[in-house]
Amino acid sequence: MSSSNRLFSVALLVIASLALGACDVFDSVLGRTDSVHLTGPTMGTSYNVKFVNDNGVDSEQLHLQIDLELARINSLMSTYDPNSELSRFNQSKTLDGFSLAEDTITVIQAGKLIGEQSEGYLDITVGPLVNLWGFGPAAKPEKVPTAAQIASAKQKTGLNKLILGNGKVSKGHSEMYVDLSTIAKGFAVDQVALMLQELGIANYLVEIGGEMQAAGVKSNGHAWTIAIEKPVTNERAVQQLITIGNNGLATSGDYRNYYEEDGRRYSHLIDPTTGYPIEHNLVSVTVVHPSTMMADGYATAISVMGKDKGLKMAQTENLAVLLITKENGEFKQYNTPEFNGFLVK
Ligand code: ADP
Ligand code: MG
Repeated sequence: MSSSNRLFSVALLVIASLALGACDVFDSVLGRTDSVHLTGPTMGTSYNVKFVNDNGVDSEQLHLQIDLELARINSLMSTYDPNSELSRFNQSKTLDGFSLAEDTITVIQAGKLIGEQSEGYLDITVGPLVNLWGFGPAAKPEKVPTAAQIASAKQKTGLNKLILGNGKVSKGHSEMYVDLSTIAKGFAVDQVALMLQELGIANYLVEIGGEMQAAGVKSNGHAWTIAIEKPVTNERAVQQLITIGNNGLATSGDYRNYYEEDGRRYSHLIDPTTGYPIEHNLVSVTVVHPSTMMADGYATAISVMGKDKGLKMAQTENLAVLLITKENGEFKQYNTPEFNGFLVK
């Protein structure tokens, strides 16, 4: 596989406001003295924090604090940093308990919970398969893996082999590899939002690589309006505008993060039950939930499960979910009743 026929890019939502068309919702707060926009790189993507500065917060100081907090989370949970706490856990071969920071354990617990609710389709131990398929931090494979390689990597996965207790985590197989990529961004959004809340900031939008949390209103008094992008790679167009109240939001979609070989598309989401990248007609999943971390995990879980299984779990867990499928060349939109209130008609 040559690098030229691989297409990689990070899924990003186009954020738009009704008044401004398909442009950044934040534009409407820019240019006002009480509106602040802080941005920077993180987690292989970027973050955007917008807020209405009603109580004179020192925004330069806050910008530094946000960078520090995101660096701290990365130093705990990034699998791209070989010295992070999670990387050290992954490198260790011991089956004995390994002490991890409270935040790392919180994220692992959330991953395990959604893993159980999704009947194993979200699996934070899927790392050996992710890496084998070339979507991890390691070098990309030269060939599509063989069935034998997949079977062997699969042996090293399984949520039941990740045991939590007394602030420690232990492995049921020495070569397990925990991948928190799918919920760490959501967790980081929640942490930054918490920082703003602690400073008394009531009107904000925090976003990292498309996962976001909103609170209150924009400086013009209107609700934060978010555009769900049409799931196409060649243009950026709006599929559906939504307002989410004081909630987190995450979107999962494999239309911008995949590679192609011999005309075949390989998603970065792996079905842990088969060990192969997912292949179905569900192209975009959006979840609104008070916790952005949970929204992030549920969005990926439903993406992996596909429309029917995904909607069934959404119903059992009372989730606010919006799905877009591609059926006979046409996009079709579905949502759970919990999502109705968020749709901008
Ligand atoms: P998306 O936004 O498409 O849901 P995320 O960035 O949230 O994507 O998560 C995708 C990442 O999660 C992959 O790059 C991989 O590291 C990991 N992953 C892939 N398949 C699974 C799975 N079945 N369960 C948990 N994590 C997965
Ligand atoms: Mg996700």
